[in-house]
Amino acid sequence: MPWSAEYKADLNKAFDDKKEYYEGDDVGAWLDSMSYKYLLEEVMGLSPKVTEYFDPILAISMGAVGCDVYSAYAAKNLDMPGTSSRYAYDKSIDDDGLGAYSYPGGNSGSFRHIVKYLIPNAISEGRGFEEILNNPINFSELDKPENPISIRLNSTAIDVRHEGTPEDYEFVNVTYYVDGKVKKVKAKTVMMGIGGWIAKNISHDMPVPIKEAYNEFHHGPMLVVNIAVRNWRFLDKLGISTGRWFKGMGNFFSIRRPMDTGDAAQPFDPDKPIVMTYYAPFVNSGHPIKEQGKMGRYELLSKSYAEYENEIIEQMTDMFSDYGFDAERDVAGIILNRWGHAYVAPQPGFFFGKDGKPAPRDIVKQGYGRIQFGHSELSGYMSHTTALNEESMAAKKLLDQL
Ligand SMILES: Cc1cc2nc3c(=O)[nH]c(=O)nc-3n(C[C@H](O)[C@H](O)[C@H](O)COP(=O)(O)OP(=O)(O)OC[C@H]3O[C@@H](n4cnc5c(N)ncnc54)[C@H](O)[C@@H]3O)c2cc1C
Repeated sequence: MPWSAEYKADLNKAFDDKKEYYEGDDVGAWLDSMSYKYLLEEVMGLSPKVTEYFDPILAISMGAVGCDVYSAYAAKNLDMPGTSSRYAYDKSIDDDGLGAYSYPGGNSGSFRHIVKYLIPNAISEGRGFEEILNNPINFSELDKPENPISIRLNSTAIDVRHEGTPEDYEFVNVTYYVDGKVKKVKAKTVMMGIGGWIAKNISHDMPVPIKEAYNEFHHGPMLVVNIAVRNWRFLDKLGISTGRWFKGMGNFFSIRRPMDTGDAAQPFDPDKPIVMTYYAPFVNSGHPIKEQGKMGRYELLSKSYAEYENEIIEQMTDMFSDYGFDAERDVAGIILNRWGHAYVAPQPGFFFGKDGKPAPRDIVKQGYGRIQFGHSELSGYMSHTTALNEESMAAKKLLDQL
């Protein structure tokens, strides 16, 4: 289904007709009171075909579910069309522009800098930008008694609970599983930097209101496929490096073009190998939000690697064989990344609350006793920057308790 000039004209006219809605001070709460589908169809009067067109786009743009259950305010945070008047500027949204960068190694670039700062010996040699990005990690340095901060790998927390009475918690016991053994550490405070679908199951003294608030967090899955190709002449012939399609397996691909820095510049030549990243969403519109995530996860996890491989190769052959693509010759390898809880999927009321009740994320952010929660999902928008914001806010609250 192509995005036609007619739809664009409809969208622009709808903006003009509804201009006054977007100019109010409480535009954020207004948008959060409805689904994105409702905004498009009932408020703006657009065809359900427009919603259908946006379903996979929203899912890939960190929505993960259908437009029918997704808050229109969350859709605004993703810059989805129809969520901002051409005339209005919503002050409640911190719009720093869409600066995009991609470290070699993805988000690990930011975290390598943090680890190097905290444990200088953890990454070999100096503090230069490329040194931090590319030098080997000295895993043995991460967890030493003399470190001011230690990072303990491969340790899964299975029980987090306070010792003492709720009126006077003394510390938190964190029980974890490592190398076939169950161990425990005592902590003065704990910042849970994990998703709520895990946090609520391992924090065994979590108060009911926080648990209930966490039950209002929903997540959708995503399949991300990296396809190593020996050349990308077929894309060059098509004149594209990124594409979207609306039938068959997946919806979007782009060739990987990580930042060039130092001497490690990667070739950008259609005759040379490159990695194509392919996104396949699972859209199950028409079902309650709780079900959409589960249905998608079931589909994501129920297929074998071989089934996915066949589907991907068929799809690529269908799209690119007329331009010289030959799977046998051109594909060097495929990696599947199955993200069961890829993105938080905020429903109407997630940000500003519903029926006079506080927003679920505001309840979670209160924490309890000596425990606080910090995870990007609490912002309603999954990104490494929102993760850092939420985690540092939670950590600051705990520092005040020490
Ligand atoms: C497919 C996809 C693409 C994305 N693309 C981008 C992008 O381009 N840019 C961007 O900024 N963001 C992107 N994001 C979002 C970003 O990855 C997340 O928002 C971010 O990683 C969240 O960070 P976090 O620290 O809040 O939590 P997480 O990254 O979820 O970290 C939590 C950590 O806790 C660990 N953990 C979980 N349970 C336990 C336990 N019981 N015990 C011990 N450890 C545990 C996990 O293994 C994990 O390492 C993407 C996400 C996905 C899924």
